[in-house]
Amino acid sequence: MKEKLLISGCLAGLSCRYDGGSLPHPSLDDLKMQYDLIPVCPEQAGGLSTPRIPNELQASATEILSGRGKVKNQAGEDCTQQFIRGATETVYIVRLLEIKIALLKDGSPSCGKNRVYDGSFSGKSITGRGITAEMLHKEGVDIYSEDEMDQLL
Ligand code: SF4
Repeated sequence: MKEKLLISGCLAGLSCRYDGGSLPHPSLDDLKMQYDLIPVCPEQAGGLSTPRIPNELQASATEILSGRGKVKNQAGEDCTQQFIRGATETVYIVRLLEIKIALLKDGSPSCGKNRVYDGSFSGKSITGRGITAEMLHKEGVDIYSEDEMDQLL
């Protein structure tokens, strides 16, 4: 039986990005040979629409999850609860299916593993995790970004 791999929906080819697009990973076929892929988009799971106004973290994921910061979209609307709901739903899936590893899209305020945007909507990245990546990390899931794919194949 193949191992299960949670994968950001956009990397699996779902059109779930904020702009309605997808980013199917070039090694998707190789991944499929080796893993049972479980695609999830936490932002859709949290109730945000697609397309949607892009969001950025206004504090670290740890601070936001402890109520000391927010996620806001480019129009200034507070989307923190949708981000936390999406992350919670993703953790539910991980527990339900006993998933141990995840391949997540870096840079995303939900899925970012090594970096996120700095909250100024100016295209500047900083070191940090997205909300879902942070919750999955706390859950003990082994997370890889798309740039770390070689470690999975
Ligand atoms: S939340 Fe994650 S899966 Fe959904 S579009 Fe953003 S990076 Fe992709």
